[in-house]
Amino acid sequence: MKQLFFMREKLPIEGNPEYDVDAIHSCSLPGISCDLCNSKWSTTGIQYPTIGCDIFTGIQSLSNLTPIAVEVFSKLLFNIRPILPQNIELLPGTEFGPLIGCITGHWNQTVWPNPWTLLLQNNCYEILSRVGFNLMGCQAQLRKPGHKNCEELTEVEVHIGCELHPSCLQSPSPIRCIKCGRLGITKPQNIILEASSIKNTFIQRIRSLPTALVVSEEFMKAIIALGIEDITFSAIEVI
Ligand SMILES: [Zn+2]
Repeated sequence: MKQLFFMREKLPIEGNPEYDVDAIHSCSLPGISCDLCNSKWSTTGIQYPTIGCDIFTGIQSLSNLTPIAVEVFSKLLFNIRPILPQNIELLPGTEFGPLIGCITGHWNQTVWPNPWTLLLQNNCYEILSRVGFNLMGCQAQLRKPGHKNCEELTEVEVHIGCELHPSCLQSPSPIRCIKCGRLGITKPQNIILEASSIKNTFIQRIRSLPTALVVSEEFMKAIIALGIEDITFSAIEVI
């Protein structure tokens, strides 16, 4: 079993980065309102910046974020699934399209608009691609005060790959709603991954916790070799 690592932003000792990003992805699936488990919910961290929102033109407006009934959500998925890549997860709250907004301040090789979104300087992105890491990415559309556009940052698209091991979930085990599929888990203090669920890829998200970024040792070493200092790694237990 290969060693895997969490990848996070390394914050300065003072606690906050020297930049500020105010941006959102172009469109997203609405949340769900379930009349069986009485939950209104959506998922944070599933995002496909390389899939532009113009693909949905004429099918469905994805700008209304009011939670919708499970039946309406299922019909929406039925309509959009055929025009999307077949291997991607589509959950309530899934975001599409490039990040659009503004950025201020100073940054180095990376920018983290939030803990689950990694923007790399274009040259770092290109070097990683050249040395064999076949990243998917999309230029972030960020405006910088005093400049036309900041065209130097690429958002790395990260797909769902692995799953939490049941032993790290709360007890009693959460039960998945048979109607909407919601699994009300509490983020484990010690995250453990299910070995059989892990995709053979160098960067992936956890299905039940898509805000966490998981990378291979090879990818971690490539980031370190590039001299990128504003990323930190920690080993993950896998059983
Ligand atoms: Zn439900």
